[in-house]
Amino acid sequence: MPELLPDAATFPKTARLTPKVHRVLGLNPSPSTGPGTNTYLVGMDGGDPLLIDTGVGLPEYLHLFAEHLAATGAPPPTRCLLTHVHRDHIGGAAGLQSLYPGLTFHKRPWPGKDEEFPVALEPVADGQVFAGQGYTLRAIYTPGHAQDHICYYLEEEQALFTGDVVLGGGTTVIPLDGGDLGDYLDTLRRLQAVGAKRIYPGHGNVIDTPAEKLAYYLAHRLEREEQIVAELRAGERTVMDMVRSIYAEYPERLHRSAAQSVTSHLIKLEREGRVRHDGGDPPRYALSR
Ligand SMILES: [Zn+2]
Repeated sequence: MPELLPDAATFPKTARLTPKVHRVLGLNPSPSTGPGTNTYLVGMDGGDPLLIDTGVGLPEYLHLFAEHLAATGAPPPTRCLLTHVHRDHIGGAAGLQSLYPGLTFHKRPWPGKDEEFPVALEPVADGQVFAGQGYTLRAIYTPGHAQDHICYYLEEEQALFTGDVVLGGGTTVIPLDGGDLGDYLDTLRRLQAVGAKRIYPGHGNVIDTPAEKLAYYLAHRLEREEQIVAELRAGERTVMDMVRSIYAEYPERLHRSAAQSVTSHLIKLEREGRVRHDGGDPPRYALSR
């Protein structure tokens, strides 16, 4: 089993990670978010900080955020970059905007998902640069976990803000709604090519060994794919057949997310023409050749 996300009880609510980058926790712990969503203030050593992500929107977070700014003496951010549209990353946008009316929000558009967004959004394009006092952030389009996902590369620290693409514990979920495992593997390879020295993930601790982490994430998915193909080589299987066999050592409460993961692999394998399924309920999967 991969190492898990840290426990909320031991995870600091705020952290001055470097002179430039501070972290404020969204205070939304859960099995999928770990201690909660990380929000990052970038450029804290200058006079013009920028925020990445907003948590889920709890009033406690807004208090914590305002307290942290007051304690550091920093001015409020005027820009907020959102890594992707999932609720635990965008939920604090409206509350932050009412606290800081000048704050603008930036996200890669996702038609069909963004319509009910509570604040105005400015579009982010792949390669777009957001620069301020002491920081230069470059947008890197990174679909797979979500169609609109953007990671940000901080040139001054050679650091990547990875949202939900790389986590400080556990592995990324590929949701059936808007996720794509093939895109995700391409995204991991794209991030490998960046050569970052550090990762600031959307959940969990800072990662100081990005190359190892990205290699592990890729190897983990490829190993899972081999396990699924091996299962199907032995005969027709439903998703839950495969989950019970492949995830036998995992607690049963994780089997639902495991089923989602297996399904994301099957979608990829079907698209590659390597797997097919019948019209049964639940469907049975088999190798195409
Ligand atoms: Zn997400």
